[in-house]
Amino acid sequence: MLKQAQHILEQYFGFTTFRQGQEKIIENVLNGQHALGIMPTGGGKSLCYQIPGLVLDGTAVIISPLISLMKDQVDSLTSLGIPATYINSSLSWEEQYDRLQQASQGTYQFIYVAPERFDSDGFIRVLRSTKLSLIAFDEAHCISQWGHDFRPSYRSVVQQIQKIGSLPQIMALTATATKEVTEDIKRLLTIQEEHVVNTGFARDNLHFRIVKGQEKHDFIQGYIQSRSNESGIIYASTRKDVDRLHQWLTREGYKVDKYHAGLSEEQRKAAQNSFIQEETTIMVATNAFGMGIDKSNVRYVIHYALPMNIESYYQEAGRAGRDGEPSDCILLFSAKDIQLQKFLIEQSMMEEDKKAVEYQKLQQMINFCHTDRCLQQYMLTYFKDPFEHPPCERCGNCQHQGELKDITKEAQMILSCVKRMEQRFGSGLVAKVLKGSKSQKVIEGRWNKISTYGLLSYLTEKEITQMIQFLVAEGYLAVGEGKFPLLRLTSESVPVLKGAEQVNMLLETTSAMAKDTDYDQ
Ligand code: ADP
Repeated sequence: MLKQAQHILEQYFGFTTFRQGQEKIIENVLNGQHALGIMPTGGGKSLCYQIPGLVLDGTAVIISPLISLMKDQVDSLTSLGIPATYINSSLSWEEQYDRLQQASQGTYQFIYVAPERFDSDGFIRVLRSTKLSLIAFDEAHCISQWGHDFRPSYRSVVQQIQKIGSLPQIMALTATATKEVTEDIKRLLTIQEEHVVNTGFARDNLHFRIVKGQEKHDFIQGYIQSRSNESGIIYASTRKDVDRLHQWLTREGYKVDKYHAGLSEEQRKAAQNSFIQEETTIMVATNAFGMGIDKSNVRYVIHYALPMNIESYYQEAGRAGRDGEPSDCILLFSAKDIQLQKFLIEQSMMEEDKKAVEYQKLQQMINFCHTDRCLQQYMLTYFKDPFEHPPCERCGNCQHQGELKDITKEAQMILSCVKRMEQRFGSGLVAKVLKGSKSQKVIEGRWNKISTYGLLSYLTEKEITQMIQFLVAEGYLAVGEGKFPLLRLTSESVPVLKGAEQVNMLLETTSAMAKDTDYDQ
């Protein structure tokens, strides 16, 4: 059967070789096993179910959370002469009925449906009476409440499909899977460890970069000026920001579209189409835009504000360069943006323990912005990527022209100050105390009386804060979960305090420390 799969790859899709992971996933399914495929965006997940769907007898049911994606996929399959359809709420009742009738007669080789479809007993009846080749869960992370995009309707499919009776092979495909999510998917869909194929998450054509301390509009303008013919996406966190950026860029004469959930379905569709067909080059959008959008030549993705966690960031940034060509992923960091994300968590309807998880994830996202390690490595470690990766030599940190400085002494002062302040305060006040500030808060709290007061007076308050953020990013300090980011020591603080571990930090050459100021005396 694998030979047949190879033949289909060439004959239908016009590709000569499988991409990494595809063959193994397909082999598992053709051997009658439930299988999970974890591949990066652009890795070629669609073929992983399309090829077995063509090799095996019967109808393949593909569950997808995205109506727009379904239509695109069905169009491309039908253009290859493969009988395929989708059934979702965008159709009239008559159309839905008609397609269901045809489905029960085995007309289609592929049916794409939204998870909610499984709530209908009528649909389950159709599936019972149809010979099924496989059931595939696309974007399978939506099944897990640990995923960043949990959809309860996805979860209930798991119970509903039991009603079908004799189940075919089940496949799950995702580009995002932390350990918790992977375990959840495996447990819910009874997938054995040996049938999980994880190709790793590395995207060797993406250049990650964090931009700090620059006026965001100036940066964007400077950046896009020389790229007026290239497609790019600018993600903002709020609809208001999207509207504002869109208005500004339009005024500046760029060909720009916008996309957010506050626009009508037609407006969104029109924006998406003109971006895909390259009538416009820039898409300004909230995170409502993108999942499943097949535009392979997006040359840059700029995050105007901090995303809520590394999963969302990697997925959104990963929409750049699906064609494998070099592409930029730039995050414009400003500490102010943290407040908005905290507000969103606080206002959400989540249970308290889920909120705590989200705060923690947000903190990891912030840490990512403050680390001086290779950004790609940092993310791959976060995702517990199964492979070893040397520094990418492409990202902003790998390319950074700073100076690596031994900051052990400063780190010790910061850690002792946090300890002296009983681990009850955030970086703002700790930095003030170390600077020797006479601000009201310092005087009122009598923090000018403690032994660490003024110990780092040779640095600016901003530099001290940056150092604190760096220590958090590297795990020497932690930030308490919850609304208030209180600093506390970790097990990794101990060797530093004892002088058993050296701490190095890449510093801008403009920094007082990098300039070797005589701060020792
Ligand atoms: P994903 O769903 O993993 O993000 P897609 O399935 O949309 O990725 O595939 C991304 C692109 O890669 C598509 O343009 C697809 O045609 C192409 N592709 C997939 N498999 C192969 C292959 N074996 N050889 C060459 N191109 C491929």
